[in-house]
Amino acid sequence: MPQIPFIDLRAQYLSIKPEIDAAIARVVDSGQFVLGPEGEALEQELAAYCGTRHAAAVASGTDALILSLRACGIGPGDEVITTAYTFAATVEAILLVGATPVLVDIDPKICTLDLNQAAAAATPKTKAIIPVHLYGHPCAMLELMTMARQRGWRVIEDCAQAIGATVQGRRVGSFGDAGCLSFYPTKNLGGYGDGGMVVTNDAKMAEQVRVLRNHGGRERYQHLALGTNSRLDELQAAVLRVKLRHLDAWTQARKTHAAAYANALTAAKLEDATLPSTLPGYGHVYHLYVIQTPHRDRAQQHLAEQGIATQVAYPSALCDQPAFREPSVRCAPCPIARRVAQRVLALPMYPELSDEQIERVVKTLAESLKTN
Ligand SMILES: *Cc1c(COP(=O)(O)O)cnc(C)c1O
Repeated sequence: MPQIPFIDLRAQYLSIKPEIDAAIARVVDSGQFVLGPEGEALEQELAAYCGTRHAAAVASGTDALILSLRACGIGPGDEVITTAYTFAATVEAILLVGATPVLVDIDPKICTLDLNQAAAAATPKTKAIIPVHLYGHPCAMLELMTMARQRGWRVIEDCAQAIGATVQGRRVGSFGDAGCLSFYPTKNLGGYGDGGMVVTNDAKMAEQVRVLRNHGGRERYQHLALGTNSRLDELQAAVLRVKLRHLDAWTQARKTHAAAYANALTAAKLEDATLPSTLPGYGHVYHLYVIQTPHRDRAQQHLAEQGIATQVAYPSALCDQPAFREPSVRCAPCPIARRVAQRVLALPMYPELSDEQIERVVKTLAESLKTN
């Protein structure tokens, strides 16, 4: 029986091999490998894509978060509100700049931070909020921006899973002070290694990130601030520029697959499975297609036995991980995140998935869950 992988990066490479091979050869031939024309072109193309005026390329999504926080002047004594249910990097970034993460519970349907909980967790020390557009569904950015502006908070959007996702037609990353992208290979726009980007409408923010990413200066042996090495390399930038040209078609394929999953799962009448929802006015880009079921472990095991790979993203609320305990992290009560963590199961989702594969995933899932 053929395996169905969770993601198939080789199939994607084969579909665009001549373009990718030419881009890699161009960089190797140029002899310029770090901070060059490919990276600058990618910055402009991604700023245009996200609908921002500026972009600054960095070495990873994690660094995009860290350098955005630093560019906002966030540090020791400051509190930053974010969701208890995200990939660890969001919370690591806050701790690594010396600030205190304040983790709040999520909306049970779309699994993003609950604004009422954010309001309840605010203190005079709150300086910023990091909404995470989890799985590719945007947070309630219009309401969040109103709340943040009233309170004087900076807003850093974690767009690592959501490039191209929209609220009222406007792309994520363009709402806050900064939007942070990740080019980790499995992301919707993934490189052949690590990479990241800060998109912003704020020229000062972009300039600050460019200074911090390269040892605190714009010129060699100029050190205006304590910086680091967080540069994007030219090979990644060239690969990403090729892939960006295909991103809208790939996102459309993800949406088509999500609709096919929803049809087949609804037709299977599974008693114990909740499908992912998209709220009206929001554009979901389905980085992950995540269902919820109380029989998650049993379902995952059965799918694995039938050669179908799935993932549990994520198996716990971050406040239950040893690295993120009080007092370095403040955690509001998170009953919903804890419950969701027991129930989520991400099914295979990538542009190259076929209708037959989707049918087989649903048929196999139905064998392990009750129907009515
Ligand atoms: C992947 C991811 C990151 C980190 O990106 P890297 O490029 O792997 O450093 C941050 N936040 C979220 C929500 C992510 O999914």
